[in-house]
Amino acid sequence: MQQIQNALIGLSAAALVFLSPQTAQSQVKAIVGASIVDLDGGAPIRDGVVVIEGERISAIGPAGSTPVPTGAEVIRADGMWLVPGLMNMHQHFGFILPGKMQAELANEKDTELALRVADNARQTLLAGVTTVRPPGDSRSAAIALSKAIDKGQAIGPRIFSAGEAVPITAGHGAGEVTYDGPYELIKAVRERVAAGAVWIKIMISGGIATQSGAIGKATMTPEEMEAVIDAAHRFGRKVTAHSGSPQATTTAVELGIDCIEHGYMLDRETLVKMKEHGTWLVPTMVVTQPATQPFFEKIGSPEWYLKRRDSVGKEHWKMLQTAIEVGVNIAIGTDQLPHEPNDGTIATVREAEYYVAAGMTPLQALRSGTIETAKLLDADEDIGSLEIGKYADILAVPSDPTQDISALRQIQLVMKGGSVYVNDMTSGSLASGQ
Ligand SMILES: [Zn+2]
Repeated sequence: MQQIQNALIGLSAAALVFLSPQTAQSQVKAIVGASIVDLDGGAPIRDGVVVIEGERISAIGPAGSTPVPTGAEVIRADGMWLVPGLMNMHQHFGFILPGKMQAELANEKDTELALRVADNARQTLLAGVTTVRPPGDSRSAAIALSKAIDKGQAIGPRIFSAGEAVPITAGHGAGEVTYDGPYELIKAVRERVAAGAVWIKIMISGGIATQSGAIGKATMTPEEMEAVIDAAHRFGRKVTAHSGSPQATTTAVELGIDCIEHGYMLDRETLVKMKEHGTWLVPTMVVTQPATQPFFEKIGSPEWYLKRRDSVGKEHWKMLQTAIEVGVNIAIGTDQLPHEPNDGTIATVREAEYYVAAGMTPLQALRSGTIETAKLLDADEDIGSLEIGKYADILAVPSDPTQDISALRQIQLVMKGGSVYVNDMTSGSLASGQ
């Protein structure tokens, strides 16, 4: 335990407290003194109390009517604002991008990958992101990690992994193993279900990181898409697709796909269709917007990659504005590591700021990284808001994020499932209850 604490403290300048899930489950805690944000747009609870028993919230309300149980561990959060833990629906903990990074990790062993993935997951949680959905795992490492986190063997967010993405020959993300035609794709879906994937990820258009196939072109046939969607839904798995193409997206939406990633070149007509079908969009704006330039320099991205990226930046931005105007379901995803430094904050928060700049209210942007995202995951009975019975995945920030989303730049408390992972609040570290 001491070693883990030391390792955590090494990551953050301020005080960090880590309790194992076993310890947390046996304790009652109360966060007191903070305002509690209402995700439905109502007035916040002032001087609120959140009581946590084990992993879940057992009471929440104003101090006057919400007693702190005798013996509870009291966490003072005076002047802070409490929001649910952030969620990020697009990241790859085993990410390898073209360029210097690819060269450095060319011969990475399974064991080395597992440790890198575990480190990325730990940093994700410490940054305030308590739930993730990796749409494209590396050698099923995120599935293994998810199990380890659930057992308390590793520290990280809740993981809803899509397992390995399903590539077609010459398509985006194609490696040594590819799948073509309905039968091979059905087999690929079932292999992933067997491996523990709770989502299925396909690539139905070209992408930035792969030189073959235009970003706006539909590379997968309708018969192939239909086979994947049907096979996945039969096992109760949702399907999401990498797509920059209006044509590919329209076909997939009509065939009942659940979610679209990036959407670089989607036009109004396609977005209206998504709205009509209730299809979700995970925009990953940080990938194409200027603030991410230093990141690409850091990892030594080649010229061709940067050109492909720049070629879609303006269209991608217009797409987001239109999607917000049309009212498409939007969930935050970055395609950068959730905690990756971006423009003075982390990628997840920068992504939310882009949504506000493109037309969302701060409350809408906050919802797109919490309760809306939980709905996308079919997990809104357990996570996504601060309510009795839900997991105590809670952040504290020093100002009201429904007024200014950039309040999320200063996350000072990270609790997941009742365990405190970060407590930088000036009002004191964990105080013992009376
Ligand atoms: Zn991705």
